[in-house]
Amino acid sequence: MTDAAALPGQPRGGVLSGPATARAVNVLAPNASAMTLDGTNTWILSEPGSAEAVVVDPGPLDEGHLQHVVDTAEKAGKRVALTLLTHGHPDHAGGAARFAELTATRVRALDPALRLGDEGLGAGDVVAVDGLELRVVPTPGHTADSLCFHLPADRAVLTGDTILGRGTTVVAHPDGRLGDYLDTLRRLRSLTVDDGVHTVLPGHGPVLDDAQGAVEYYLAHRAHRLAQVETAVEDGHRTPGEIVAHVYADVDRSLWPAAELSVRAQLDYLREHGLI
Ligand SMILES: [Zn+2]
Repeated sequence: MTDAAALPGQPRGGVLSGPATARAVNVLAPNASAMTLDGTNTWILSEPGSAEAVVVDPGPLDEGHLQHVVDTAEKAGKRVALTLLTHGHPDHAGGAARFAELTATRVRALDPALRLGDEGLGAGDVVAVDGLELRVVPTPGHTADSLCFHLPADRAVLTGDTILGRGTTVVAHPDGRLGDYLDTLRRLRSLTVDDGVHTVLPGHGPVLDDAQGAVEYYLAHRAHRLAQVETAVEDGHRTPGEIVAHVYADVDRSLWPAAELSVRAQLDYLREHGLI
């Protein structure tokens, strides 16, 4: 889900479908919309020369897309051995059960309700499949169950909806919380500064080659929006709907319901910090 506020200085990138790094191949799902940008990015990850692959976010329940993911892996000589989810929104996870059936794999996610099999995913977990190593980074904020996957060998991070290839994401109140999201962005910044991550492999939109720039842009955007909401309240706008109409006047109206979720999360944050 995106809140679509494109500000100047937005990072640019490439790759919508096909190989993105040495270990990551994108298969774009045919579910483009204002909320999903070009569609959901389903990621096939594997070590070069290996026989087994991991799929992150099978995408929506779309039989053609799920089969295309299986075929893409097979054409590369890989068998899908495991399915992972960045979070439970249906454009990422709706096809997971069917995909697990097609590939006879387990599904691992933070939310127990999304898992198939008895293995979850959490802080500090390392997922290792046929030479590929992924480190699990809890990144709540877009949703409470959001995870990112650090792919150290490619100096890359798979961000789901926590960072998108274009625009910015929604803090999906009440499940998503702004304080969590800001902590998450700082955690991702440390991944870029301390762990040398360069590349963002997002859940929607193009690959970003300047991960640190993307994180800084998101932090600046959130601070900018928060100041706008605070000012709107001071100017007498009271309901979330009024604040959206005021602060998001330049954003397409089809995105206002999503913007309202972010506004509600921001109002909670401002109240919790005694700012309004
Ligand atoms: Zn989402």
